[in-house]
Amino acid sequence: NFAERSEEQVSGAKVIAQALKTQDVEYVFGIVGIPVTEIAIAAQQLGIKYIGMRNEQAACYAASAIGYLTGRPGVCLVVSGPGLIHALGGMANANLNCWPLLVIGGSPERNQETMGAFQEFPQVEACRLYTKFSARPSSIEAVPFVIEKAVRSSIYGRPGACYVDIPADFVNLQVNVSSIKHVERCMSPPISMAETSAVCTAASVIKNAKQPLLIIGKGAAYAHAEESIQKLVEQYKLPFLPTPMGKGVVPDNHPYCVGAARSRALQFADVIVLFGARLNWILHFGLPPRYQPDVKFIQVDICAEELGNNVKPAVTLLGDINAVTKQELASKKSLPMNYYTVFYHVQEQLPRDCFVVSEGANTMDIGRTVLQNYLPRHRLDAGTFGTMGVGLGFAIAAAMVAKDRSPGQRVICVEGDSAFGFSGMEVETICRYNLPIILLVVNNNGIYQGFDTDTWKEMLKFQDAASVVPPMCLLPNSHYEQVMTAFGGKGYFVQTPEELQKSLRQSLADTAKPSLINIMIEPQATRKTQDFHWLTRSNM
Ligand code: ADP
Ligand code: MG
Repeated sequence: NFAERSEEQVSGAKVIAQALKTQDVEYVFGIVGIPVTEIAIAAQQLGIKYIGMRNEQAACYAASAIGYLTGRPGVCLVVSGPGLIHALGGMANANLNCWPLLVIGGSPERNQETMGAFQEFPQVEACRLYTKFSARPSSIEAVPFVIEKAVRSSIYGRPGACYVDIPADFVNLQVNVSSIKHVERCMSPPISMAETSAVCTAASVIKNAKQPLLIIGKGAAYAHAEESIQKLVEQYKLPFLPTPMGKGVVPDNHPYCVGAARSRALQFADVIVLFGARLNWILHFGLPPRYQPDVKFIQVDICAEELGNNVKPAVTLLGDINAVTKQELASKKSLPMNYYTVFYHVQEQLPRDCFVVSEGANTMDIGRTVLQNYLPRHRLDAGTFGTMGVGLGFAIAAAMVAKDRSPGQRVICVEGDSAFGFSGMEVETICRYNLPIILLVVNNNGIYQGFDTDTWKEMLKFQDAASVVPPMCLLPNSHYEQVMTAFGGKGYFVQTPEELQKSLRQSLADTAKPSLINIMIEPQATRKTQDFHWLTRSNM
């Protein structure tokens, strides 16, 4: 019956072993002695495997490797004083490797503390330098909470070593079962993702790289990111270099592996993506002469404090490697947008009775195939003469008619960036008469196609714009929406489908003001990417 049960006694050793079991500890490595022998026995009785070793240091190395291999910490169980001191080497090694580990050390009875007890040593303090977390539970009742916290600390954020100190008097204490609160198994680490804008920037830096290189570290191995990284390597066609323990995340015999040419790969890369590898001595600190002085580093790491060590990275992606790699893969599909993506999202929201005015080359042609008309005389475009510059005038006329004959009807004016330029100043007219027009500028930085900012800058590095800028290019990343805000209308600059959806929804809801949505798309959207021979130094 319950009353009897609540008086049932349990030993401290069993409480400790149960706490380890609850946290899914599978393996304990150690050397027994006073006062931890009972803990090892109790652990075995609960089905935890105990491996008796010959030196605490080796036991600790073994326990830490369990953490790396399984993602949950192995335990190293040691006696007080010298036993713990021997384990410090293993703790330091685990912490420096960023591997989870839980060390449990016995210590003298609390009532002999500071009296010169057998093997007395300031163990919690000693471990602090080698761990993320080092503590002694205040009572046997607190043990399950402190062990949960130690396990959690060892695997959340940057993985590392943790220490829990167990005074001898805890081990043999008999306590009421009912006084031990149940503590849940700590969940696997929550998955963090990088900022969307940083993901986009990284994608464009990688895309514009001439000699990109991916460095795969043991953080990527620990993160189980093998599948996503291999996909990234293949989709972006990225050469990769594994660090010693990053080997095998993508097989060494993969055609993009440059392991055999390590020095050259490091030395000539212009963009380097670090997946769970620190720019420490192993990677020559990321500095010349082993690297180009202006190499752009993209750092992917779960530890914010790691970002920016030794170099100033071009992009930092704070998050779980596997999740961030998937974000990069997804961004490749949707960013930058192409015409079809843009028109698909526009069509979704267009009111059935709106006027569609359109001009441009691809913008008008592809737009026509996707944007639907349901009423006669509600589409106006470049027409028989193929005239550019008619759009804003037509839109103003349609808006006047709409205003006078069917109030509430909207005019959507879909312009290429080049086409918009022909009559862009009519935006002032639109604002002056406060006309119900939504201007969409589908911006590919040019006529037919343009260049992205990086290519543009690269081009102008060596020569005068008039000599090298291809005639179809317009200034990249132009903020045409500011033409609208200049006159008091609403302006939006959008790069993602989400931003496009949101700004169009707002523009349609806002009947008080005209708006202009400047939609950035892939500058080479309709063509496959070219080799820009005139950009290479040998041709200059
Ligand atoms: P290597 O020795 O292979 O160069 P390092 O040990 O220097 O690798 O770097 C590993 C990095 O991986 C550490 O900076 C660590 O914070 C990071 N890391 C560990 N797990 C993850 C994870 N799941 N997601 C992102 N980064 C991680
Ligand atoms: Mg254009």
